[in-house]
Amino acid sequence: MAVRPILTAPDPRLKVVSTPVETVDAAVRRLIDDMVESMYAADGIGLAAVQIGEPRRIIVMDLDQRDGKKNPRHFINPVITWRSDEVATFEEGCLSVPEIWEDVARAAKIRCEYLDRDGKKHGFEADGLLATCLQHEMDHLEGILFIDHLSKLKRSIALRKLQKAKRLKDAG
Ligand SMILES: [Zn+2]
Repeated sequence: MAVRPILTAPDPRLKVVSTPVETVDAAVRRLIDDMVESMYAADGIGLAAVQIGEPRRIIVMDLDQRDGKKNPRHFINPVITWRSDEVATFEEGCLSVPEIWEDVARAAKIRCEYLDRDGKKHGFEADGLLATCLQHEMDHLEGILFIDHLSKLKRSIALRKLQKAKRLKDAG
């Protein structure tokens, strides 16, 4: 397993639409392990493969780790098959948009299908933080960042903040 660097906006590689995984093989499982390692190393709760420069439809997530235990979940080729009309708003952040947190409204409940790391198909319904995280991570597979859901003004303020933070970091 290896911790891989996470791309940050406005890196054009984050805008790439990810391609489906055709076969869940050892290479895919290795990539998943790297994603989980990289997510934990960066203190994140979710990560899409494209964020480490691998535009494939894979996401990993762990919403339980703050209780001290690790319970990583993996979703290969995830698709949303249903969204509720009801929306829920959460303050979101992203490992690819560091130090920016903004409210985003998304479907409160969704139904998803995905393959697990053995290539087995599953379906389930999600609500709360899990529903929000899944939609956030699935957006990454389409090249969409959470700041793309903000108003033009809020997005440009967020991007300016991000550039400034990057410059400070580069300056030492
Ligand atoms: Zn993200």
